[in-house]
Amino acid sequence: KLSMLSLPLLLLLLWGVVSHGFPTVTSETQEQDVEMVQNYLEKYYYLKSDGKPVVRQRNNSLVSEKLKQMQAFFGLKVTGKVDTDTLNLMKQPRCGVPDVAQYVLTDGSQWDHTHLTYRIENYTPDLPRAEVDSAIEKAFQLWSNVSPLTFTKVFEGQADIMISFVWGDHRDNSPFDGPNGNLAHAFQPGPNLGGDIHFDEDETWTNNFRNYNLYRVAAHELGHSLGLSHSTDIGALMYPNYMYSGNVQLSQDDINGIQAIYGPSQNPVQPTGPQTPQVCDRKLTFDAITTIRGEVMFLKDRFYMRVNPFYPEVELNFISVFWPNLPNGLQAAYEVSERDEVRFFKGDKYWVVQGQDVLYGYPKDIHRSFGFPRTVKSIDAAVSDENTGKTYFFVANKYWRYDEYKQSMDAGYPQMIAAGFPGIGHKVDAVFQKDGFFYFFHGKRQYKFDLRTKRVLSLDKANSWFNC
Ligand SMILES: [Zn+2]
Ligand SMILES: [Zn+2]
Repeated sequence: KLSMLSLPLLLLLLWGVVSHGFPTVTSETQEQDVEMVQNYLEKYYYLKSDGKPVVRQRNNSLVSEKLKQMQAFFGLKVTGKVDTDTLNLMKQPRCGVPDVAQYVLTDGSQWDHTHLTYRIENYTPDLPRAEVDSAIEKAFQLWSNVSPLTFTKVFEGQADIMISFVWGDHRDNSPFDGPNGNLAHAFQPGPNLGGDIHFDEDETWTNNFRNYNLYRVAAHELGHSLGLSHSTDIGALMYPNYMYSGNVQLSQDDINGIQAIYGPSQNPVQPTGPQTPQVCDRKLTFDAITTIRGEVMFLKDRFYMRVNPFYPEVELNFISVFWPNLPNGLQAAYEVSERDEVRFFKGDKYWVVQGQDVLYGYPKDIHRSFGFPRTVKSIDAAVSDENTGKTYFFVANKYWRYDEYKQSMDAGYPQMIAAGFPGIGHKVDAVFQKDGFFYFFHGKRQYKFDLRTKRVLSLDKANSWFNC
């Protein structure tokens, strides 16, 4: 059997291997990590150190408090210690604006007028000027679409929002740090520096999926220029860390944030944005679920939620972070563990992955590959019984059975779900196999099903795997 997946963000493989707590620093990388942690907490969580290496001190309660604040913000296990997850999160590229307000009073700052001006003071050499103009304009449009705010570009003089590309110490008390790390920052509404946006010119700015997409970062910084602070919602543009999932859009959390300050859009139809699944929401439903190398992966919209038997926290992130070549909104998924393959379905197409690699030549057509009739337009759920090599495909109130060894559909199908799997209802959203049992999901419900006796063994909430 292959080892566990390597992770883009939280390196589970290392979890528990690296010693917790810093006082026993030995290697050079750990030395650098100590410095990095101290800088991070000073910059984003207002840790006061007076220039002393406080993070290295054993049981420094102030450091531990700040670490707990940071861990709580990012939904990590709150330990007050520097563990691997905490370190990995701190190493991600992000916005230079702190995650917590220094003084409560500064919260709630806003523009006293809704027709705002902006000016691009200088241009990065990384992109053609027209591309910079377009990225900035699109970023403004995102926010004007969902609020009463309007933005007018000006070419000289002082604008409300001045935009520039600068590097290192640029005399605003918030120096940039060279490539990666701190990418950009913006000032909350107000005169002079207020509302201004600075991009770190030591980054490479792009108009595609490469680091760092200017439109994506501009859209985030503009949120600060308008008075928003950081969000703990990983699906929100106002999440502090750089996330690029292919398209840039405001989430419902961002829309709620801007409308709480300036009121609703004048658009007769109020715009809405995608919501991030709440793992402990009792109404949580799923699009697809599959095992993958011993873990269970729950899919919903743009996100995956991942459960590992050795790790207490659910990991929630963008599907594109794991598999940049897979689309969002996948509808079914199953693992053929013998081949170390997972197959993902959307519409009449499917993709095959091994670990994090999407295999060459996909997507392929489900009719040609599996022998579905043309009337089948999409698959609701799929699971492969690892004991028999039979794969079950659920479509509306029927199911097909496919033989993975013969690579053909078994005769006599489709059959009614209610007949083949009594007790689970007529429709399936998602299904996976674990320890020999099938777990069926429909709406908020989950059914544990015994294939041999053809009986439902227990009924549970759909999100019962998440330790809520
Ligand atoms: Zn920010
Ligand atoms: Zn600056």
